[in-house]
Amino acid sequence: MKIRVLGAHNCETRSTRLVTLLIDDVLALDAGGLTSTLTIRAQKKLKGVLLTHHHYDHIRDIPALGMNALLHEFTVNVCATPVVRDVLATHLLNGQVYAEFLKKPEDNPVIKLNIIRPLQKLAIDGYDILPVPVAHSVPAVGYQVTSPDGKTVFYAGDTGPGLSECWQYISPQVLFIETTAPDYYTDFARQAQHLTPSLLKQELVSFRDLKGYLPRVILVHMNPNPDQQNLLAAQVATLAAELNASITLAHEGMRLFI
Ligand SMILES: [Zn+2]
Ligand SMILES: [Zn+2]
Repeated sequence: MKIRVLGAHNCETRSTRLVTLLIDDVLALDAGGLTSTLTIRAQKKLKGVLLTHHHYDHIRDIPALGMNALLHEFTVNVCATPVVRDVLATHLLNGQVYAEFLKKPEDNPVIKLNIIRPLQKLAIDGYDILPVPVAHSVPAVGYQVTSPDGKTVFYAGDTGPGLSECWQYISPQVLFIETTAPDYYTDFARQAQHLTPSLLKQELVSFRDLKGYLPRVILVHMNPNPDQQNLLAAQVATLAAELNASITLAHEGMRLFI
């Protein structure tokens, strides 16, 4: 399995993109940094775009991808919960903000919206996919993706503390999980349901207690402010040493082979 980090952050700047992962060039996890990083040819190769929740930084490129699909004559398979589908249809692809790509053209809409439900497995192009609820301020799922040759990754999307139930359902080799800000934002993170290193620690300890191991952990959705990110990196290095685990910050363009 080849994983490319298209976007590793929660804000877009010239050098950072909104969090998006690409698996084997065919599956995208979230859509904050898809069209800004992929050629049309690469966009055409996508077999599925899996959305975790409806916050803007995770769905931002769906309208742009729809327009590319229309102009370059391909279709896009998007997987999302009913809540995310409704937000897209009502607030973005509503004929006012942007074209109604979920419905048009009537005979063959450019975006095929496949409804997913938490804990109901689906298969796309030989990959087994399991959406698992996570703890965020709006309904959200993470995705466990297992490749045809048995490699498994879990992408948690946005989440706050409280993942012990989620851990029951997954056994990944690599865990992509958010850590939005350094520890002095912990109160804010608890409120907005994000993670800081100290909150992440509790979640990883609960994972290890339950599963008896820790996967390789790669962090995404960081605030790109350099001071914050440097501090975060230092706190994460301390945490990795404490837990004797591999925990690193993702960056745009990062490639991983498992
Ligand atoms: Zn969110
Ligand atoms: Zn987010």
